[in-house]
Amino acid sequence: MNSIFRSETRKKEWDKIMNLSNRIEKLLTKVNKPATYMGGELYSVHKSQEETEVFWGFCFPDLYEIGMSYLGLQIIYHVLNSCPGVYCQRLFAPGADMEALMRAESIPLFTMEDQQPAAEMDILGFTLQYELSFTNIINMLDLAGIPFFSRDRSEEHPIIAGGGNCSFNPEPLADIFDFFMPGDGEDILPEVTERIRLSKTEHWSRQHLLEELARVEGVYVPSFYEPQYDESGRMTGHRILKEGAAYPVVKRFVMDMDRVAYPLHPVVPFTDTVHNRTVIELFRGCTRGCRFCQAGMICRPVRERSRDQVRQYASESLKNTGYDEMSLLSLSTSDYSQIEPLVRDLMADCKQIKAGLSLPSLRLDSFSEEVLQEIQEFRKTGLTFAPEAGTQRLRNIINKSITDEHIYTAAEKVIRLGYTNIKLYFMIGLPGETDEDLDGIAEIARNIVSIYWKENGRKGKFNVTVSVSNFVPKADTPFQWAAQDSPEEFNRKHYYLKDRLKKLKHVSFQYHGTETSYLEAVFARGDRRVGASLIRAWELGCRFDGWTEFFDYGKWLQAFEETGIDPDFYSRRVRGEEEYLPWEIIDCGVSKRYMLKEMKRAMEGLQTPDCRKGCTGCGVRRFVECPVYEPGANYFQVES
Ligand code: SF4
Repeated sequence: MNSIFRSETRKKEWDKIMNLSNRIEKLLTKVNKPATYMGGELYSVHKSQEETEVFWGFCFPDLYEIGMSYLGLQIIYHVLNSCPGVYCQRLFAPGADMEALMRAESIPLFTMEDQQPAAEMDILGFTLQYELSFTNIINMLDLAGIPFFSRDRSEEHPIIAGGGNCSFNPEPLADIFDFFMPGDGEDILPEVTERIRLSKTEHWSRQHLLEELARVEGVYVPSFYEPQYDESGRMTGHRILKEGAAYPVVKRFVMDMDRVAYPLHPVVPFTDTVHNRTVIELFRGCTRGCRFCQAGMICRPVRERSRDQVRQYASESLKNTGYDEMSLLSLSTSDYSQIEPLVRDLMADCKQIKAGLSLPSLRLDSFSEEVLQEIQEFRKTGLTFAPEAGTQRLRNIINKSITDEHIYTAAEKVIRLGYTNIKLYFMIGLPGETDEDLDGIAEIARNIVSIYWKENGRKGKFNVTVSVSNFVPKADTPFQWAAQDSPEEFNRKHYYLKDRLKKLKHVSFQYHGTETSYLEAVFARGDRRVGASLIRAWELGCRFDGWTEFFDYGKWLQAFEETGIDPDFYSRRVRGEEEYLPWEIIDCGVSKRYMLKEMKRAMEGLQTPDCRKGCTGCGVRRFVECPVYEPGANYFQVES
């Protein structure tokens, strides 16, 4: 036996891997982006298979270049591979060209690290970031040769798990996944992995493993619950089928950001990805309380990483990766409590190694001129702000606490600093919206161009991009009860706005497809029944539904019809206050009572202040100490 193999078993494993690797390699000359299937990148992990006790497959249900720009992937990859005996490998959805070749050559879905078949993993964990990637999950399972439904999988198949934003309403995927882990992953993943290790060493049955997993705080095993419906088809509850199964399942919180593991040696791709830069997470959570924003609710409370640690991580990460750009990540970067001194420190460090700093999400009412001055040397062409709505009335409804004055003062400042591209994000179809709010969007764009002219005369290149997304009512938000506009109404609004904006000089317009937003709304508030439509849509050929070039609305309508699902029931129906919501099985921390109160305040046009100014009683303190909460500084009476 060759001396590099410590055992016959290891040699057999290696032969098998090399066999598949060689077959994959032959395909690489025939596909568009071979580097996205090769693995072997800087800091990708390779472990001995023989010494591995638990094989984890981290699945990103979209292309490599999207997944590798997602910080969550790098964090989880690092957390799992730091566990002794655990080998986490990455899997991505192959592009259409690669998929066709894999199917023609009978090559199964494989890992990036060892080109190992997905079906050989002990557990496949999908990150659920976006409803329109759901058909890619089905496609990846099919390519792996794994049955779609949990009930059809046997002892030999990997356990299928899900986490990420969409796991806060996991019901559309409940018949497919074995379990879900809503919330922060850093603590729960090692606990779950330990159960899987035990199940292998102690030869547990799959059912016993699921029972043990259900005992882990924050784990939801959907097969232990049966959804109940009334005669009108509305859901009335979850019946618990397994004694001891938690109700509700409370998301997991990681409270001390300085304590959690962080990937200082993130995998550095060989090829361009969406963002080629190092990313440092500043904080989790948001206190602003925008009523449409799911991330702002499900990520509470705010937990900041210390300034010293951010600086240290930034410097080490830049040095380790060789990137020449760094970005700070959070839901609202300018709300970081020490943003100005931090940016000063980081810019000083970046200058020494000729790297740049980018701040992706600045708020119009809290961004600092000093911060912009610091970063403008590196990038002063483009800046993005999100007023979200065109009038103060609608901004009050959605609880976006910025005023016209904030918008125009900010525009004046950035124009004076030399910025020539301003992008403005708006959302249309919001509850309470009228055409006057659309006129307000055009008015804001017109006024910003006027500010530029006032400062610079009618010369020079300047552009305001109005970017419009469509309101999708999401689970766990105060607008979770609201109806969505129909695709036809969205189209009308797009044309209305287009018509007004085309008359303006230096203004361009971008908008999202209406039919994809409609589909997103169905799954964002779907129940278990919509899972059947998902499978049927995949059978009809749907993949990459978030990509305009692949999205096929006709096939989706056919899938809904054939599976007896009325998409309007999920997207366009106002939910009753007393109605049971399919995602109530998961407690995201913020209470339903609080969200209902916020919905009612929206209808009255009342704003609720940022809870850094006084606790507004969101309910998260039922589970954890909120770092932002100050006793005696309550805006409303805090709920028990
Ligand atoms: S508990 Fe109070 S202070 Fe903390 S996030 Fe909720 S509303 Fe804000």
